[in-house]
Amino acid sequence: MRAIPLGAEASVGDFQRYPGCRFTITCSLCGWTKAYNPERVVRRLRELRAGGYATPLSRVGARVQWPCPGCGRLKWRAGLAWPAGLQPDEVRRMTNRYRN
Ligand SMILES: [Zn+2]
Repeated sequence: MRAIPLGAEASVGDFQRYPGCRFTITCSLCGWTKAYNPERVVRRLRELRAGGYATPLSRVGARVQWPCPGCGRLKWRAGLAWPAGLQPDEVRRMTNRYRN
């Protein structure tokens, strides 16, 4: 996974600007990472009435309440990342598909 650099005010819905990216939560203390389908994250936030596309990533990270499987501590950071092995031409193809 390659983290996408985002500003402090980035929100969950920013995934739409990066076709093919995944939503990630990363342990700030040891780097353990889990990836999710960003559409599903939005759906879940809505189900819980906890937000949606406009919810800041920082707020999503703070909501995660299970301890890290890597180090057992609790300090999550939400972000967006490219999956390993996703090639630039694949990104281009998906961008075109969204546009058409
Ligand atoms: Zn950890």
